[in-house]
Amino acid sequence: MYAAMSRVSAVLQTCRWCGGRRPRARRLWAAGIERVLLAGLLLQGVACRRPPSPAQASRSREVMGTLATLTAVAHDEAAATAAVEAGYARLEDVNRLMSDYIADSEIGRLNRLPAGTPVPVAAETWACIRRALEVWRASGGAFDVTCRPLVSLWKQAGAQGRLPTVEQIAAVRALVGCDRIVMDETSRTVALPAAGMQIDLGGIAKGQALDLAAAAMRNRGARGALVDVGGDVVAVGTRPDGQPWRVGVKDPFRQGIVLVLRLSDRAVATSGVQQRFHEIGGRRYSHIIDPRTGWPATQAPSVTVIAADGITADAWATAFSVLSVSEGRELISTGRVADVEVLWITGDAGNPVMEKTPGFDQYVVE
Ligand code: AMP
Ligand code: MG
Repeated sequence: MYAAMSRVSAVLQTCRWCGGRRPRARRLWAAGIERVLLAGLLLQGVACRRPPSPAQASRSREVMGTLATLTAVAHDEAAATAAVEAGYARLEDVNRLMSDYIADSEIGRLNRLPAGTPVPVAAETWACIRRALEVWRASGGAFDVTCRPLVSLWKQAGAQGRLPTVEQIAAVRALVGCDRIVMDETSRTVALPAAGMQIDLGGIAKGQALDLAAAAMRNRGARGALVDVGGDVVAVGTRPDGQPWRVGVKDPFRQGIVLVLRLSDRAVATSGVQQRFHEIGGRRYSHIIDPRTGWPATQAPSVTVIAADGITADAWATAFSVLSVSEGRELISTGRVADVEVLWITGDAGNPVMEKTPGFDQYVVE
């Protein structure tokens, strides 16, 4: 009997739930109470099998001339932090390639080299310019990345506090037009054919950077992520509690937000005529230029676009800031712009007016 007991005691049984081991002898002794404990054991098994609760890491940093906050959800904190860093590395890549403030970025070189010089560009820059041309076409020229000479003219006017002359505007406007960009697919080069032509990807590259950062974070194991660069956001998956991410839309007239969005696998971008401006003669002029007139945009003080990706949201928020609300609605209702929802805030501080596309409210937190 003792021999038998010691033998069974030595046989340890592996728990099929948690891999832990318990003496088989106990099971023989406690055969009666085993059934009673079965429910508890099953519960323990369920607890052991449940995936560990996800960890979240968040870092804020200045990048692309604005404040960014990247948040990742992953299986542990180290993985979440690594995902955040992978996201930042992509944001820096895009900045290094496409910032027109950096003289030796690809766009910096394109703007500086003699007219007609073909400049080899990275796949990211190529894709961004291609996308810019699509939006230029679809927006009837309202979105135009060759508007840099006009942007510079108005920046200079703002610094001097003096409106540019009609002649100056006409002369500079002659340098603008996306149809003149020369793209050679075989050599993947871009050229600007006329002296003085320049490209400015400020209305679209940030959105592309959001997408690339989100993809990098996902590749580094993030199951959820929030990439926020200056208020333009890509939301991947969900928060650790399984809920969609929450993103506020800023009030263009005063401090605070006008509403909160609930987003999962969506992007949102806001362009504000009143966010960045030049003041001339006591009047505010938008940093967004209407390439069709050469004058700063005067439409909605704030346009928010929700789209499937950041590049679409960013470019169309700028384009809809140039177009009137009815022109924008027309593009959407005729299907020339698909899968976007838009919020226009018009009026003024005393009488703000919100206009939305029909599907916008599905993203608004009640
Ligand atoms: P966003 O803040 O995304 O609307 O981008 C505005 C920036 O895009 C400006 O600061 C300019 O660099 C550039 N931009 C201005 N007007 C236009 C336009 N009509 N089309 C494309 N880019 C523009
Ligand atoms: Mg934009």
